[in-house]
Formats: sequence, structure tokens, C-alpha cells
Amino acid sequence: MTGLLSHLRRAVPVIFAGALLLVYGSVRPVFAEIVHFSIFSVNDFHGHIQSQDPTPGVTREQRLPVGGAAYLSGHLKRQAAGKNFTFVGVGDLVGASPLISSLTEDQATFHVLGEMGMRFSALGNHELDRGFQWLATQYRLGCKSKWNPSQCLFDGFDSLKIQYLAANVSTSEYLPKVFLPYIVEEKNGLRIAYIGLVTQDTPKLVVPTGILGLVFKDEVEALQGVLDQIRRERVDVVVVMLHEGGAVVDRSRDTPSSASSDCSPLQGNLRRILDQLPAGVDVLLTGHTHQEYICTHKDTLVVQGLSYGTRLSEVMLRFDTATRTLLKKDAVNHVVTQDSSVRDERIERLVTQAREQTAARSQALVADNVPGLTRAKLRDSESSALGNFIADLMYHFEPAGNVDAALINTGSLRSDLSPMNGRMTYGDIYSVQPFGNDWVVVSLTGEQLLTALRQQWEGRRDGRARFMQVSESLEISYIRSGDTLSVETVKIKGDPISLDRQYRLVINSFMFAGGDGFDIFAKGQNAIVLGRDIDLLQQSFKANLKKILASQQFLQPRVVLR
Ligand SMILES: [Zn+2]
Repeated sequence: MTGLLSHLRRAVPVIFAGALLLVYGSVRPVFAEIVHFSIFSVNDFHGHIQSQDPTPGVTREQRLPVGGAAYLSGHLKRQAAGKNFTFVGVGDLVGASPLISSLTEDQATFHVLGEMGMRFSALGNHELDRGFQWLATQYRLGCKSKWNPSQCLFDGFDSLKIQYLAANVSTSEYLPKVFLPYIVEEKNGLRIAYIGLVTQDTPKLVVPTGILGLVFKDEVEALQGVLDQIRRERVDVVVVMLHEGGAVVDRSRDTPSSASSDCSPLQGNLRRILDQLPAGVDVLLTGHTHQEYICTHKDTLVVQGLSYGTRLSEVMLRFDTATRTLLKKDAVNHVVTQDSSVRDERIERLVTQAREQTAARSQALVADNVPGLTRAKLRDSESSALGNFIADLMYHFEPAGNVDAALINTGSLRSDLSPMNGRMTYGDIYSVQPFGNDWVVVSLTGEQLLTALRQQWEGRRDGRARFMQVSESLEISYIRSGDTLSVETVKIKGDPISLDRQYRLVINSFMFAGGDGFDIFAKGQNAIVLGRDIDLLQQSFKANLKKILASQQFLQPRVVLR
């Protein structure tokens, strides 16, 4: 607090130049009582405690490795030194995590972030990837739960202590109470309300059976409700942690990067929320879209710090506790460089421990001579080599029976496949398919399949299509005219689709349960669950790799948009 006097109203200790005096009653300094307070945050960390394999990110300017929990912690310590501060999360702390975290049931990440001082976070959609009951169990029983195959791995960690905030989620009375809408924290004479919100799209992003009994409400309406409620609580500053965000879509516009920038270049769901944002929100920490921006919308400071712990966001508040006014606010996204002088060795030891505990499983060899495959679109198409390849492995999986096609939602391909020297390990394949879905085989009529194709864009709030990846037996073209998309042709095993015929399809349980807005798959007939995707992929690799590689068919575009 660099020489400034802080006056704590309640307990009335006065901190001056490092000395602590206790004064009573009417002693008041004559000048303004300024408190500086920083809110550090991280959004979309996704269990990236490791600093390599794969490196979670690089700086845009130079190809410098960034991220890693030990470095994040080190930068936090450096930036927070001598300051009044809180460290919070903005959702997706875990979920779709690399093996080093997910094989520990994300204990490793919860423990590390807890050790860094995180006490609460907005809920993200990915926290619900394994279902609400999984998250509830992490609180109640933690690693002592018999559901937890990895047991308690870390001294001093037995259950989840980070409180998730979700003001727009209501939970059935039959479920355990896990979330709070908000927390008011009093620190250094400041009362700050932290309100958590998760994207209203969550039901479309997670397996619907995992969130039975939960209702996700409009973010702005829920926020308004909390603001009305906390008016009585003498709150000085309102911080909203929103697990939803924006992005700059128009490439001719610059990404806003300072408190003096306007938020108008940001599009997406954040745009709708900003347009309706109630007055009285001082800071809006955002996430979900993995973007980096800082801007001001009316009186609200808006921040997002990329993802995977490659940025540490800091909001700096300057507050006058005499008049109880927020004088200034500013923000910066610190780049989490992997500078050995900042590495937190205590956190690094925890990461090493997690790596040792998960290494044997993640390095197990699954298949040899596997090419590197990416999610990049093949020439003039919506297909990718990796998408084609995975769909073919599903299509050729023998226990599925005689099937007509396989389809997979693009969002389920979490990363590119990059085996070292062709040696594909469990860790390699896991990073492509980390969600723990099952493969499901189901019969749809041609008409229902066409509906599924249209559901790739119908009913989406952002209006953008997300095209599925398909097996070699399918050829699909779409036409865009103006703002409307339509299906042009569908060929299955070389023949045009027939509306009345039944087609046997392999898909995943996320799609079958209505994820990504595909509610048509559940209306199919004779559904059979084949088993967990990661296990079946390994089997199919062993059985079909040679055949798929020999044909090279996976390098051909299958889904075309005209
Ligand atoms: Zn998210």
C-alpha cells in the first residue's frame, strides 16, 4: 500500500507504514483513505498444471513457451507482492484436462489452485463434463470416494475446497447443495461481492443426463436478481465472474486491450449480455471463448485472459474508504512466461508428483506407425484429416455390426493427434478424446438424419454452423445463400439418401443425449451402447489402422460447403 493510510472500518485497526495500531472510535485521518486492491484471476485453466507435453501455449509475439502451474503461481506471487488481493477463477478450471490432471480425477488441479490461494470460482460448463454428481462427490468425499479410482494422491488434499459460484443455476431439492450464487468478501476495509454465472448454453455443451435436476437460467436475469438482493449488504464493489465471453469476429477491428478501449469489437454471446447488462457491475471477468481482451462497456471493466493459465489477469482497484467510492479501475493480462526465476518450486513439486503418478498409464503404447493428424480443414471443405480418421475408426469398429456411417461432433476432437516418431501412446489418443463419452450405435431414418444435419446450425444462439465429421461412407454438401444454410446432397455408400430407409449409425453418447443441440438422435431406434470411446478407439486402432492408412481415403474431403 506504498505509504498510504488504510482505515479498516469494522475492526478499526489502522495500518500505517507497516505498523499496526489499534485505535478506537473517532480517530480519523484528515486526508482521503485510499485502498489499492487487486483481483487476480484465471479463466479456462482446464487442468493445465504441466508446463510442457504439450506446452499449453505460446506468446503471440514470439514463440516463447508460456503457462504451467508453477509459473502461474510464481507470477502471482511476484505481481501480488505487497498488495491487497484476492485470487479467483472464472470457470473451466478442470474438464477436458490433460492426462496429468484427468487421471487424478483432477485432484492435482484442485490441489494446486487451492495451494495458490484460490477459494472460489465461477462455475464453468466443463466442471460438469463428468456430471453434477461427480462434482458434488468431489466436495463431500473427494478422493476418499469409492468412485475415485485414483485414491488420495496428495498430502493435505482430500476434497474440493474451491467454492463454485453459479447464480443462474438452480438445483433440485433432491440434489446436494453445491453452488452459491455469490460471496461477499471483506478485506482491507473493502466489501467486494463476487457473483458467479455460467453460460446458459451449458445444457447443449455437456451430457444432458449429467445435469438432470439442474436448471440454467438467463445470465442477465439471474444477475439482476442478485444485484437486487445485495443492495442491502453494503457492498462497495461488484465483481461478476461470467463463464461466457466474446471474440472479435470482424478481422478489420482490433482486439481491445486496455481499460480505455471500447468493447464494441467483441461479438458472440457476450455482446447480448453487455447490451442488457444492468448498471452497478464494476468488473466483469469473462471466459469460455479462450480470448484475450480488456475493455470498458459503459461503467463496467471487461476482462478475459486467454486460457490454460497462459495469462494471469489482474484488475486493479483504487478505492476511497472515507467516501466509499471507487476512484479508478484498471486491468492487465500478465503473460505467464516460463522464466525460471519466477517458478514456484513448491508447486513444481506437486506437478512432478502428479506426472510420476500418471506417467505409466499415459505412456503406454497403443499403436505404431501412426501419422500425425490435424483438425485443420482439408482443401475447400469442412472435413479434417483427424475428423475423417476418427469417424473411420468408429465406422470400421466391428462390434458395432453392419453400419452405414459414423458421425462425430467436431467439438469432441479436443486436440490434434501428434504421436512422437509414429508411436501413439494412450496419452496421445486421450488428448484427442478426453471427454469420456461412449460410442452408441442407433438407427435413424433418412429423414431423421437430414434433421440431424440441419440441427448443426438451427437453434444456435450464435447462428454459426458446427459441421460434424463423417466416415468414408458419407458424402455431404451444403449450400449457403445469404444468411441461410441448407443441405444440398447426401450420399451414403454412393447412393442418394432415401427418406424412409433406416440407417445404422455410430455416434457418441454426447450427441445421442442431445449435446450440441442434436435432439434428433435420441429419437432413433434400437440404440446400443458399445462402450467408452477411449477403450474402443484403442481396439479399433489395433484392428483397422492398416486398412485405413492403406486407402488414404481419410485425406479426401467429405463435407463441403458451397
Ligand atoms: Zn467453457
